[in-house]
This record gives sequence, structure tokens and C-alpha cells, in this order.
Amino acid sequence: MTSATGNLPMKDQFVLPEGVIYLDGNSLGPLPKSVSGHLTGMVEEQWGQHLITGWNLDDWMGQPLRVGNQLGCLIGAPEGSVVIGDTLSIKVYQALSAALQMRPDRKIILSDSGNFPTDLYMAEGLIAHMNAGHELRVVPPEDVAAAITDEVAVVMLTQVDYRTGRLHDMNSLTKAAHEAGAVMIWDLAHSAGALPVDLVASGCDFAVGCTYKYLNGGPGAPAFIYVRPDITPDIAPALSGWLGHDAPFAFEPSYRPAKDIERMRVGTPPVLQMTALEAALRVWDKVDMQDLRRASMALCDLFIAEVEARCPDLALVSPRDAALRGSQVSFAFEHGYAAMQALIARGVIGDFRAPNIMRFGFTPLYIDAGDVRRAVDVLADVLDNRLWINPEYQKTGRVT
Ligand SMILES: *Cc1c(COP(=O)(O)O)cnc(C)c1O
Repeated sequence: MTSATGNLPMKDQFVLPEGVIYLDGNSLGPLPKSVSGHLTGMVEEQWGQHLITGWNLDDWMGQPLRVGNQLGCLIGAPEGSVVIGDTLSIKVYQALSAALQMRPDRKIILSDSGNFPTDLYMAEGLIAHMNAGHELRVVPPEDVAAAITDEVAVVMLTQVDYRTGRLHDMNSLTKAAHEAGAVMIWDLAHSAGALPVDLVASGCDFAVGCTYKYLNGGPGAPAFIYVRPDITPDIAPALSGWLGHDAPFAFEPSYRPAKDIERMRVGTPPVLQMTALEAALRVWDKVDMQDLRRASMALCDLFIAEVEARCPDLALVSPRDAALRGSQVSFAFEHGYAAMQALIARGVIGDFRAPNIMRFGFTPLYIDAGDVRRAVDVLADVLDNRLWINPEYQKTGRVT
């Protein structure tokens, strides 16, 4: 039978603990069933038996580009334009430093207050380190378009706001940035695997993102960076590590960047993590991103309708229009932290973002309408019966 959402959900491809409704795949994707066997095989056969010869024999050295190509298919990036490695914070630094060098006469980095803090922190650190009079200008998300002036060197935005799910229009903002002569960097942390992205159509210069959220690469999975192929030969890598060198094993005395996207590599790749990611990405072979988007919008709409009907104490902070939202829904609630702990204790896993936001991610790969309804049953119970008042739920851990 075919449906509006193709072959979704595909729950049988994931390890999901009995009784858990997992609404936090936007923070850490669950374990795809194919990963454990693939990883064990790699460890025992490749590392165990091949030892150092695995770098060539099993092409560990080619993995950052190979997996980059696999991932590139999900974000509309051409072959050879994406490479995997490091963490997203590092990839933000690389993109931003390269972008600033493309506009030496301009000093403004424009971002918005919906950006994830590490992106802004990395910009602050880079500015301080360069000590060349740059300024980070942070405006409210709705004011970004108007703030793109011809003073701006770089526009650096995260497409989907991690707190509210608000979605920026990549194509129109990229066009505005380019018309003003600015370089455009998109952070796709909450976009890759959540909605269709077409980097070529957007025309942007750089894109970065992580792989442990919607792409299910596992805790600590490495990040990705895209550079538009026509600008790659001219960008100057600030993190000039040996594996971004044109000939790493020539051990030349001086750095000379690789000719292609591999210049964005830095040091030895995390082969075990990338092996898990490589297996996890196979899930996407059978997913149509348009189907995924349709299913995600329907799940989020259903959740909003059910919560608003049954939980009057919660206030929607995400855009009501699905077209203006990523794949998550957030509600503000004064006792949101404790309420989320009470939910988690009952098998409904979302998360909390300070100061008062209860956040729920909807991943149509393994969530269906029945899960949404059951999750709201539990949420309504927690709120109606003030179950969050239990002192156990007021304790905070290191990670919320
Ligand atoms: C999740 C996220 C990060 C995390 O960065 P790491 O270096 O991988 O810890 C960075 N930026 C954005 C926008 C994110 O959503």
C-alpha cells in the first residue's frame, strides 16, 4: 500500500526501548539496528586483523570524503563538496575564518539571537584571536533580512532555531547576503535529516552541521562541512592540519592545502565514530525527503492540536504554520524542567531548554500518530495531576 508518507515510519530499523516514546531525536538520534554489527565487524576484522594496514586496505583514510558524499545526497550537495570530521563547533570556526578572509575590507559578522550559543561563542573567540576590529552583530531572527547591509562580511545563521523550531528561508536570505556582497554560512544542525535541503539551489558559500541529531550517527559523531565547489580552491584553512595538506605523507616542511574539499580536514579522522555514521546513513537510502517532510509536518500539527486542546497551561512558542517550522515543537511552561523530568520518568522523552521551554522533536522515521497521541496522554496526566511537583523532578543533572 502506498500512502502520502511513502514507507514511513520504519521503526523496525531502530533499537527503541520497550515502552519509550522518543521525542528527542533532534538532540541525539536513536541507534539504527545496522550500526552494532557494522561497528563490531569493523573493530574485529579491520582494526583487529588489519592493524595499521586498515588505513589503505579498508580505506579509513578515504572515509571522511566517502561519508561526506553519502551525507551530501541528503542536503543537495554535489559529489566532492562535503567532508566529515571534528565537531560542529570546529566546523563553524573553519567556515567563519575562511569567510572572513574572503571579505578583508568588511568587519561585521551578522547572526541572530536564535542561533545556538556555541556558534556565537566560536565567533567571539575568532574575533578576539584575529584582533582586527571585527564585530559580532546579533539581531532578533525576524530582523536579519533588514540587517544585511553592505558593511556585513559574513551572514552566519542556523536555519532551524534550536529552541523554537523557527525556520529561516535559506534561498531568500542567501540571495540577500550575496546582493549585499556578504558571504553566507548556514548551520544545518537541526535541518540535515529533518527536512529537504538543497545547498546548490540556495547558492550559499558554506554549510556545516552535526550528525548525531536527526542523522543518528551516535553520541560524539563527527560534524560535516560543505564548501561551494567554485570557491574551494581559494579558501585559506585557518586550521591547517596535516590531513588537509595536499600531500600529507610527503611530510613537507610547510603547509599547502589540498586542492579540493579535503583542505577542510584537520587531523586523524575518528574512524570508529565515522564507521557508525556510515552504517547509520544507510537508513536514508529508502527515505524520500519530501515524504519525510510531509510526515513531520503532520506529526507536529497533530501534537500542537492535541496539546492545545488538553494542556491549557502550556503556551506554544514554535511557529503555528508548519511551513515556518523545522521538525520540532516547543511549549513554554513555568515548571517545564520538572514537568519534563516527570514525562521522562513515564517513558516520554523530550528535553528542556532554559529558561522554560519543553522541547519535542518529531522524527517520522520512528514516530507515528499513535505515539503522538500517547505522548499527549502522559503529558496531560503530568499537568492535570501536578505530578511535576515531586522533589525528585526538581534535581538538575549536568545535561538537560
Ligand atoms: C547541536 C548544535 C551544535 C553542537 O556543536 P558541537 O560542537 O557538535 O557540540 C552547534 N551548533 C548548533 C546550531 C547546534 O544545534
